[in-house]
Amino acid sequence: MADEMNLPKGELMKGKKGLVMGVANHNSIAWGIASQLAAQGAEIAFSYIDAMEKRVRPLGESIGVRVFVPAEVTDDASMDACFAMLEKEFGTLDFVVHAIAFSDKNELRGSFVDNTTRENFLRSMDISAFSFVDTARRAARLMPNGGSMITLTYLGSERVIPNYNVMGVCKAALEAATRYIARDLGPKKIRVNAISAGAIRTLSLAGIQDGRKMIAQGRQFSALKEDTSVEGVAGCALWLLSDLGRSTTGEVIHVDAGFHMIGLPDEAQDEG
Ligand code: NAD
Repeated sequence: MADEMNLPKGELMKGKKGLVMGVANHNSIAWGIASQLAAQGAEIAFSYIDAMEKRVRPLGESIGVRVFVPAEVTDDASMDACFAMLEKEFGTLDFVVHAIAFSDKNELRGSFVDNTTRENFLRSMDISAFSFVDTARRAARLMPNGGSMITLTYLGSERVIPNYNVMGVCKAALEAATRYIARDLGPKKIRVNAISAGAIRTLSLAGIQDGRKMIAQGRQFSALKEDTSVEGVAGCALWLLSDLGRSTTGEVIHVDAGFHMIGLPDEAQDEG
């Protein structure tokens, strides 16, 4: 994949060790980011949920990943074991990529107010927002020399997007959490940012009703009139996780072909 994406090789991440959470398959945003980081010399560990191990291992091995560790973010014992393993293997960390979200797909459709249950609301928040707080606290202890962490978010946190529903609320919490974590960890020289990516065809997107429409409309209404590319998201990740990003923290950066800043699309005006 690294070659397929024709990634520029370099040394921007040379000497840096970190954790990438959330690779499920070759379409995952975390995979695009990991490939980019590996091409720039990073030493990477992958965490995964058990069901994904068979897919994740060969992908990781193809870019030189040698540490694979299960991490179910709702389970404290699993997270304890994950970070104990990282400490044993790496000693310290320089970066973390958090690319994890989940919600019951039955609630990613139709009316938010009618379809959102307490159980799924809390579970979605736990997996998609709290897990970043928990990860950041654990990772910071392994970052005595400072570091950089990123998470992935979507415009549905700021504006209403059809069917995104409870996930929009989770992403709003995730973005606010990013700022609070950035404030707390700033004095330790740990930077914390979120990338707000445009819609990309992944397993997670498939769980949202009319997810493909989100891609098509994102393209149609974007300034660049094109899909958001995983390479573009990974490029932003590389900037934030390398020393190039040294003065940026607490930000939510849109990488969506300029979709977020359009108020009224040209097409809507044409219809008037
Ligand atoms: P993906 O399905 O490839 O990745 C989601 C990952 O979350 C998977 O690896 C899955 O195993 C992991 N995960 C789910 N529940 C977990 C749990 N309980 N414990 C540990 N891991 C768990 O999809 P993706 O689109 O690459 O998603 C990565 C991130 O990017 C998510 O936060 C998603 O919301 C965000 N994002 C995606 C898009 C898009 O259009 N695809 C746009 C903006 C932001």
